Amino acid sequence: MRESDIVDIAIIGGGYSGTITAVHLMKGAPDPAMKLLLVDRARPGGRGLAYGTWDDNFLLNVPAGNMSALDGSPQHFVDYCRTIDPAFNEGSFVSRRIYGDYLQHTLRDAQQHWPGTLEQSAGQVMSVRPEAVSGVLEIRLADGRLIRAAKVVLALGHFAPKVPFELRPAAQGGDYIENPWGFSALGSLPDHLPVLLVGSGLTAIDALFRIHSNGNRKVTLLSRKGLLPQGHRPTPKQPAHVPFPRALEKPSLSVLDCMRHLRRNAQRHLAEGGDWRDAINELRAHTPEIWQRWSGRERKKFLRHAVGYWDVHRHRLAPVADSRLKEMLASGSADILAGRLVDCTEEEGGYAVRIRLRGSEKYRTLTVGAIVNCTGPNADLATISDPLIQQLLTDGLLVADEAKIGLLTGASYEVIGSNGEPVRNLFYVGPMLKAGFWEAIAVPELRQHTRQLAQELIRSFAR
Ligand SMILES: Cc1cc2nc3c(=O)[nH]c(=O)nc-3n(C[C@H](O)[C@H](O)[C@H](O)COP(=O)(O)OP(=O)(O)OC[C@H]3O[C@@H](n4cnc5c(N)ncnc54)[C@H](O)[C@@H]3O)c2cc1C
Repeated sequence: MRESDIVDIAIIGGGYSGTITAVHLMKGAPDPAMKLLLVDRARPGGRGLAYGTWDDNFLLNVPAGNMSALDGSPQHFVDYCRTIDPAFNEGSFVSRRIYGDYLQHTLRDAQQHWPGTLEQSAGQVMSVRPEAVSGVLEIRLADGRLIRAAKVVLALGHFAPKVPFELRPAAQGGDYIENPWGFSALGSLPDHLPVLLVGSGLTAIDALFRIHSNGNRKVTLLSRKGLLPQGHRPTPKQPAHVPFPRALEKPSLSVLDCMRHLRRNAQRHLAEGGDWRDAINELRAHTPEIWQRWSGRERKKFLRHAVGYWDVHRHRLAPVADSRLKEMLASGSADILAGRLVDCTEEEGGYAVRIRLRGSEKYRTLTVGAIVNCTGPNADLATISDPLIQQLLTDGLLVADEAKIGLLTGASYEVIGSNGEPVRNLFYVGPMLKAGFWEAIAVPELRQHTRQLAQELIRSFAR
């Protein structure tokens, strides 16, 4: 029998991953008296980083038909959208604000069906420590509260990008924006001054749109290869399920094998009057297995040479966003530069940034009023300054994977500690599962992980 002040399962992080894990737990709770707690530093919780925006200009980058929050209920999100507008369908790209509303609606709906099971709390968790004998976990919050839980799920989501070494001098200055998701900072940049976005993926495109919605100015996107995300086709197709490709059934699978297969498959689709995107969509379901089959060396090779090409084809823009970007590039209000940052100095009214252009000995110096770091979420645990991550690392309750793109977890989503063993009663779900699965960032994968984790937790209570 548990002590009455002990929560059965505390979930830290109320973005998609934490919220939907809570929904599955409420649905499947073996004991109606089970006590669940969902803690998020943001108020109101339930939306997380991606769906916390109130601006309808920001669209999902996945069609509605593939955005159901609940594994096994593919129409769940489309049905919700149709309550807003019957014209929405599986191919619609709706706003991220609507998706945030949908997550909160899904949580409220579960709370009404299973009242009293889940409590929500706002606060920043600073540490999680196991008690020596009982194994109960002590959760300490920034406001001084102490919560005791039998099990804890870490659903901490994304962390702000790492500051590139060359930008460190600028990072002290006024108009260097470290967090590209801080929309209010982007909206209040000094008028008309040119802006440099370091990075050219989906985060940079979001920042570009946000900056432009606040007045026209020149925005330059800089990345090593100068690649931009591709667009979805106007009427996207649901990915077809195909078995694991036979060409990749090899004992020592290489990155080259996979890229050759992908290119051949894309050419086949095109020759048959189809679309190259189908080749990516077909492979997507198998990327976790491919990642697991690759040796550490192949993974590194992929991250060094191929990831940029993979990302721009795999993480695509909604068609409306794609045409908006193309218009900005055509009109010259945005441009893309391929090159490497060399150095950056602060000067009157902004920064001078020196860039070595890709594939040449030439340098170019840009004078900009502000710099936004859009290099993508930081998943390198050792460099994340968040106090909770640092405490868990210092106490040996988390370890980074070899490629430094996430953290190690066991088969039941329990985190692996520095002794190589699963940490009792401490679990993780979210984008850092990338370490073990590669493809684990977006809803189509996270919905499987959240359901599976909830099942594991429920099973462990039923034992
Ligand atoms: C801008 C953006 C747009 C995206 N668009 C899409 C899309 O269109 N489709 C798609 O499938 N995927 C998209 N994604 C991918 C996204 O990773 C997933 O869809 C999903 O939102 C991840 O949710 P999460 O809960 O794991 O992380 P997050 O949304 O980051 O949520 C983590 C939560 O944990 C809280 N938290 C963290 N640490 C603490 C602490 N110590 N104490 C208390 N609370 C804490 C945070 O406040 C946050 O609310 C997008 C991602 C981003 C960044």
